[in-house]
Amino acid sequence: MKADPLTDFSRLCVHTITTRGWKLDEAVDQYAEAGVSGITVWRQWLEGQDPQKSGERIRAAGLKVVSLCRGGFYPALEEKTRSQSIEDNKRAIEDAAALGAPLVVLVCGAVPGQSLSESRKQIAEGIAATLPLAESLGVRLAIEPLHPMYAADRSAINTLATANDLCDELNHPLVGIAYDVYHLWWDPDLEAQTRRTAEANRFFAYHVCDWMTPTTDLLNDRGLMGEGCIDLRGIRSMVERNGFSGMIEVEVFSNRWWAKPPREFLQEIKYTYLNHT
Ligand code: ZN
Repeated sequence: MKADPLTDFSRLCVHTITTRGWKLDEAVDQYAEAGVSGITVWRQWLEGQDPQKSGERIRAAGLKVVSLCRGGFYPALEEKTRSQSIEDNKRAIEDAAALGAPLVVLVCGAVPGQSLSESRKQIAEGIAATLPLAESLGVRLAIEPLHPMYAADRSAINTLATANDLCDELNHPLVGIAYDVYHLWWDPDLEAQTRRTAEANRFFAYHVCDWMTPTTDLLNDRGLMGEGCIDLRGIRSMVERNGFSGMIEVEVFSNRWWAKPPREFLQEIKYTYLNHT
């Protein structure tokens, strides 16, 4: 029997940061009760927890662990800081394996005072240094290109083309892409690069939210789907035409939505997921 598209939440995943007011246990219970199917756990939600037990708890509630968010931040001016970052990324990979998350999302990093090309070189070296561990634990690494407004200090990987180039350079089946519409919607090369991503089997994750006009905060003013100007239906049909059939992950950082009761927000997420995504 085919699922009713009006009540089908089988591909709905929510990031723990979206419902920021809930601790992990609470988020798991609330998501499960609301019929959400997947959870992407942000690392802060694992602090002080045993990731293996958390994974068991999530699965017992009937949810799928979609990914661990996030590793990355490889570039640094000092060699010592770059080594610390590699160690931190190894811990993220170990935590993902313990949690039962198949994937770590990478926000790759950038440093003011260093060229973007040097940062990209350090990102490639950083990811390469963690690949043997990722391989031994079977954890995939998803490079998330970030909107160019974050090029100074959050990521030197700012287009899908650059992310694909980096994947080409690393040339490893465990390295792919987290495709976030917030970061990519404006790109005139999106269709060709989406095809390239799919043809290389790099479509590891799909994140949704919306772009507010005006955007009042560079980090925490994302819209809920349908509130902004992103052609969410158009982009989704494009990625699905290219073979993507994975989870649709709702990742909204919003001071405006965080000020409301999380249960109410979760109901809005379900509604906008069905009607605008
Ligand atoms: Zn994202």
